Amino acid sequence: MSSIAASKTQQSKVCPRPSSWVACSASGDIHAKPAPSQVLPKRASTAKTTAECEYHAVIAARPCVICNALGMQQETPTSVHHMRSGAGLSQRSSHFLVLPLCYEHHQGKSGIHGNRSAWRLAKLEEMDCLALMIEQNLLEQGYV
Ligand SMILES: [Zn+2]
Ligand SMILES: [Zn+2]
Repeated sequence: MSSIAASKTQQSKVCPRPSSWVACSASGDIHAKPAPSQVLPKRASTAKTTAECEYHAVIAARPCVICNALGMQQETPTSVHHMRSGAGLSQRSSHFLVLPLCYEHHQGKSGIHGNRSAWRLAKLEEMDCLALMIEQNLLEQGYV
């Protein structure tokens, strides 16, 4: 019976990370301020599933939510930011809680990992951006 070996290859689909993606490597340290005695688990060790990879590709193809909100022309490609809101006690956010951000509004000076001045200007938090993105998506698909 050689069919057992064949069925094993169906499991553990881990999607390779396209080199064009900008990793959200800064997540964790900036947002979470743990007590000195606390050691947080590292999110980097969690491999993405195929569905998560596909969702990230969809997000990376969307315009920056902050550029959009500020009516700005987006100047750099979209990267995927892992939201810290909703990460819960595990301090490990879901691969589905992500936002499309240009370089400046992600890791740039005015970005979420910077001084957040663009975010304050737009009067938006991560959750607001997620809601905006869902709304835009529904509009685009003709649901609302
Ligand atoms: Zn932007
Ligand atoms: Zn990020």
